Amino acid sequence: PAKTMDELVSLCKRRGFIFQGSEIYGGMQGAYDYGPLGIELKNNLKAAWWRSMVYERDDVEGLDAAIIQNKHVYKYSGHEDTFTDPMVDCHECKSRMRADHMKDIKVCDNCGSTEVTEPRDFNLMFKTNVGPMVNEESYTYLRPETAQGIFTNFKNVVDSTSRALPFGIAQIGKSFRNEITPRNFIFRVREFEQMELEFFCKPGEDEKWHEFWVETRKQWWLDQGLTEENIQFEYVTGDDLAHYSKSTVDILYKFPHGFEELEGVANRTDYDLGSHTKAQEEFGLSANVKKNEHSTAKLAVRDLEANKWEVPFCIEPSAGLDRGLLAVMTEAYTEEELENGSTRTVLKFKPHLAPIKVAILPLKKNKPEIVALAKELKNKLQKLGLGRILYENTGNVGKGYRRHDEVGTPICVTVDFDSIEKEGAPVTVRDRDTMEQVVVPAAELPAYVINYFIN
Ligand code: ATP
Repeated sequence: PAKTMDELVSLCKRRGFIFQGSEIYGGMQGAYDYGPLGIELKNNLKAAWWRSMVYERDDVEGLDAAIIQNKHVYKYSGHEDTFTDPMVDCHECKSRMRADHMKDIKVCDNCGSTEVTEPRDFNLMFKTNVGPMVNEESYTYLRPETAQGIFTNFKNVVDSTSRALPFGIAQIGKSFRNEITPRNFIFRVREFEQMELEFFCKPGEDEKWHEFWVETRKQWWLDQGLTEENIQFEYVTGDDLAHYSKSTVDILYKFPHGFEELEGVANRTDYDLGSHTKAQEEFGLSANVKKNEHSTAKLAVRDLEANKWEVPFCIEPSAGLDRGLLAVMTEAYTEEELENGSTRTVLKFKPHLAPIKVAILPLKKNKPEIVALAKELKNKLQKLGLGRILYENTGNVGKGYRRHDEVGTPICVTVDFDSIEKEGAPVTVRDRDTMEQVVVPAAELPAYVINYFIN
């Protein structure tokens, strides 16, 4: 794994994974742009999540709700009142910082001075205006979590799919938080993506499902290539619990800057549906919610046995896509000493996450038969639907191998003179991790590649 953030930042920029946002204007803190390879990696990680959370289960539906919602959503969700971090100002160097890691004695992160203010609450939501009139009433917020769109669509999804408990709704999308001190590359940023499942169950079955999701999510991260020794659980208690949570287990990963939260799995009880439902008094809610004067829908399901309407409990595994990508890159980063004494950098991604699945490298740039066969193979492999297959005609295979090791391409295929002269058109297939090369007839290449990626 990577030992320092710097080596990751430098590789990400050099090879086109991640760039500083607004770089040509001096950058913008807490915003990063994903380059040609970063977008592929991100899409692959999202697809893996969607596959396991939606397609491989028969009790989860997908959703893509709007980022901008009615401001009442955030009034009743509790975010307007309580989605805050404690902040202090330093009298000495004039910087501002998050204070939640500071114990009794408060010390400036920047200059070490103890001349800091008492902590005060800072709301992390970005406020914005909607419509052509800018006045006191025309505001809303950018969503600070995708979850609220799931709660506000609860009735729509139940009515259109006839779901009964237990079932879940999954969503991937952007969230925004005006973090006081964004830091550690893409670990803490102001604009990021979340992959969230809200899993609804009967009250009383919530603790069982909570345990289930903690274990299931950990296993998923292992399937993405993270290793057991770099994952820990943290049981969040007392003041550290979010306003909606009865209990939360954080899944921590050993990032280059230390063990930190990768995903939170929270028991949100009946807090959210209870907050957003009309006729709250009918349901005997267990959570302490604000009186709702605006909602037009009952967010409850019929319990046929007890013959009454009830508001489900909700378990939420909430993962950060950007943090996930950082974890996967940290884990995949490898420096190997080779027999000839040189070193190579390899990103040992799981094949399903690799940004480029196969690179096709013709040995000679301007030999038409070689180029034609290479292009034909590219088109054939591309049609398999595995992801990006790159035809790369630089004429320098050695350099190609090095580059593709560094960006984690599992397979390189070279097309050479043998391929056009010998019977069966043999091509050379090189494995990223073992660096071993095998010869495969061109006609069998698609089957070889499918076998490699599907099994
Ligand atoms: P932290 O304590 O690190 O601020 P949090 O507990 O506020 O995180 P949650 O509200 O539980 O985070 O959000 C769920 C997930 O969303 C986190 O586990 C993380 O992966 C991701 N996430 C939250 N805030 C950020 C951020 N500022 N930048 C990148 N990812 C984030």
